[in-house]
Order: sequence, then C-alpha cells, then structure tokens
Amino acid sequence: MEHRVYSLPKKRMGELFGLISSSRQLFLPMEKGGQFQFSRVDEHTDLEGVSLDRLLTAGSAKELFFPQTQQIAAFRRRGKEIELTSAETLTSAFVAFGVRACDARSLEVLDRAFLGTPRDTMYEEKRSKGTVVTLACNEPEETCFCSVFSIDAASPKGDVETWIAGDTLYWRPGSEKGAELTQELDALLDPCSEEEPEGLIQLKQQIRSIIGKLPLGRLSLEQFRPEALQELFDDPAWQKLSEPCIGCGTCTFVCPTCQCFDIRDFDTGEGVQRFRCWDSCMYSDFTTMAHGNPRTSQVERFRQRFMHKLVYYPANHDGLYSCAGCGRCVSKCPNSMNMVKVMKTLGGAQHV
Ligand code: SF4
Ligand code: SF4
Repeated sequence: MEHRVYSLPKKRMGELFGLISSSRQLFLPMEKGGQFQFSRVDEHTDLEGVSLDRLLTAGSAKELFFPQTQQIAAFRRRGKEIELTSAETLTSAFVAFGVRACDARSLEVLDRAFLGTPRDTMYEEKRSKGTVVTLACNEPEETCFCSVFSIDAASPKGDVETWIAGDTLYWRPGSEKGAELTQELDALLDPCSEEEPEGLIQLKQQIRSIIGKLPLGRLSLEQFRPEALQELFDDPAWQKLSEPCIGCGTCTFVCPTCQCFDIRDFDTGEGVQRFRCWDSCMYSDFTTMAHGNPRTSQVERFRQRFMHKLVYYPANHDGLYSCAGCGRCVSKCPNSMNMVKVMKTLGGAQHV
C-alpha cells in the first residue's frame, strides 16, 4: 500500500468534513453540552468553527466502538413463551477524526480483549465500520506519559494519520481502509511531491522535543514485568496507595483501555430490554456472584486495576501494557490517586 502524504490548506478543513459526512457518519472532538467529546456531525454543526486545538476529549474515542450503554437484545413475554424481538441495530460506516495517539493505541488493547476468543461480534462490527483518523499532538500536556509506553504522539498510528502544521493539514493513509477514504476525498487532497514535506518533518521534531521534556516521560516500566508479579502483588505499599480511593470508578470510566462491562435487564412490563453497560473493577459489587465477591476490600480492588494494566495484561498479550499514558486518570481522580502514583511508588522513585 502506498504511504504517500497529501496536503490541504487548513482553512478548507470544513469542506473536507463536509465531504466525509456526505457519505459516512463523521465524529469530531467538539464541545457539546459543556463537555468536550467525540460528537456526531449533523446538519446544525458549523464545520468551519470546529477546533482541533484542544488535546484530549473528556471520554475517549473508545466509546464509538464500545459504547457506555449498548442494547444487545429485547424479549417479549407471551404467557410462558419468550420471544426475541430485536437485537442491537447495525452500525453505519463512520469516521472518527482527530483521535490522539494514546486513544489509537487503546484500540489495539481493546482489539486483543474483544477480537480474541470468544469474539465480541458487536465490537467487531463497529471496528469494521469505523475508520480511525488520528491527529498528532502539537502540544502534549504535563499529564501525558504516552512515550513511556513507546507511543509516538508525533506520528500517531491510524487508518489515516494527520498533522496540522501551520496553515496546512497533512494526511497520510495508514491502512487499506484509510486508502479507500483517501480516494473518496480525491477532489480535495493534493498529493505532496516529497515523501515527507519539510513542514511535517519540522513539526514532528518540535513535538518530540516537547515530549522529551515532559515531567512524566521518565517513568519506568522496568519493575512491571511478569517475573515480578508475586513481589508486586505482595507489596505492602498497596495499602497506603489505596487509602485515598473512594471507589467512585471515575478512573475506569475515563480510561480508554478499560473494558469491563455488566449485563443489565430492564423489565418493561411486557418484556425485557437487555443492555450491556460499562462496569468498574473499583466498585464493591463488581463481579459479585452467588457465593459473594472475590475482592472484598478496596485495597484488593485498587490493586487489581493497576496489576491488570501493568502486569497481568502485558504478561498475556506479548508485552502490550493496558495503559496508554493518556493522563485522564491523573487529571480526573477526585482524590488525586492514579496510575502515575502507582508507577512512581512501585516502580521505584529513583526511576522518575
Ligand atoms: S482511584 Fe480515584 S477515580 Fe479511581 S475509583 Fe479511586 S477515587 Fe475514584
Ligand atoms: S490508566 Fe490512566 S493514564 Fe493509563 S490509559 Fe487509563 S486513564 Fe489513561
């Protein structure tokens, strides 16, 4: 597949969004109802006014592929008979534009969880219909630590990779799906003569230089390896680390890699609507079974969340960590407890 770079004057991005949304659903990071979130472009959206300067949405792009609430079935009762009346409606082809490098990596983590065995067909359907257009982070923030997980925010992997350098949008397809979308936008995108235009080279250098100076960029993963599992599990530091945690679950709901869900039935009086809803391993009733709860204290629940992300998950997935260093949990925990504190404490402060 050709990895040619295309360009478009930034002031024509409204036209680009218009053309994409004429054939597919388009989701952009936008302010809506007081929240900065991926939102669907509709006839009321002022495409000229869309700003891609803000770094992270409150929730991640995960929600487009694994929604917080998703109907999976509906049943009707007729006496003693139960009839299946509907299941989840099918997704239309869509484009998620402006996905940051950390959120794009998170989709790799979710793919391992949902596209293995057994296969999650609802997630698979959304992944097959969705084209991910990433956007490089011109101004990474102090809470970002994606580079610790070898994520390159200057060159974010996606079906299409884009950069905004000065007055120009650069666009490079990264997959067959991305090449297909690029072809559809042929009337707007200009192929660049050089493989890597000078403006793009400079922007990447600038971004990498900022990332090199970020305060959390020197966190170490050295200690978080499968052989250290028992030692980390038994570390007495979990007790103190978990004390401020009130089990609100905020960190799991904003996390782009968290993937736990619960199945809930809603009785309509005439039948049942069945939904799957995000759940949190930080909740005291998480995975409660007939015999009780496997993790009865907050310290056990807290330890599970971080051990899963830093030790269990990479041990089972070829070293892929289930944290992308997006920093959302760092800025959102009401009690300032987060991944960074865990990594600093258990990874050894000397590595920070
Ligand atoms: S770590 Fe913070 S955000 Fe997460 S459940 Fe505990 S208090 Fe809530
Ligand atoms: S654990 Fe925190 S920093 Fe890591 S991906 Fe989740 S929200 Fe982002």
